[in-house]
Amino acid sequence: MARNLGPVCRLCRREGLKLFLKGERCFSDKCAIERRNYPPGAHGQSRTRFSEFAIRLREKQKVKRIYGMLEKQFAHYFEEAERLPGITGENLLVLLERRLDNAVYKLGFASSLAQARQLVRHGHYQVNGKTVTIPSYQLEVGDVVSITEKSRTKKVIVEAIEMAQRRGTPPWMALEREQFRGTFKAVPARGDLTMPISEKLIVEHYSR
Ligand code: SF4
Repeated sequence: MARNLGPVCRLCRREGLKLFLKGERCFSDKCAIERRNYPPGAHGQSRTRFSEFAIRLREKQKVKRIYGMLEKQFAHYFEEAERLPGITGENLLVLLERRLDNAVYKLGFASSLAQARQLVRHGHYQVNGKTVTIPSYQLEVGDVVSITEKSRTKKVIVEAIEMAQRRGTPPWMALEREQFRGTFKAVPARGDLTMPISEKLIVEHYSR
């Protein structure tokens, strides 16, 4: 599967926002946003006026990057969000939040979304007791995500669990850290999603 292989801190600098793509480093003073909070490139520090189109495009790019999506995958989620009843923008965010790799990261069983994706593929997690190796697997309310028994002592997972304690667990997940599992207990309400996202701009971008 295609991936973005470029330096990920540039993505945060482009969006002017911490996207938390690098695990431990994101919480340290080595974070590129802490050091150089301006867009990368030769003209990064010059003042730019954005067109309406550019504002909407940037919002779409930002959300794509938060969830580690490529263009085609993201467009696919948008199409699905449009088909569902309710508000398209909110449906989109819920579909992204329901991904297994996202849940693994939010539960603190991996230190970044990219790491969660790789570890899911390598079979380190289960859903309702069965190993699932598909990062895009959509969780249903009540599903229990756990770390397989043999993977509970794996160094990267142990370190991720330690590090995640300062991140906290989102309100739509119930974490049982000692049991190495967590439950997707509810579909997140829009107000629970704290990243500064204006999904309306994304809907406008695709509707143009
Ligand atoms: Fe973004 Fe993390 Fe890099 Fe900071 S360290 S710029 S939050 S990826």
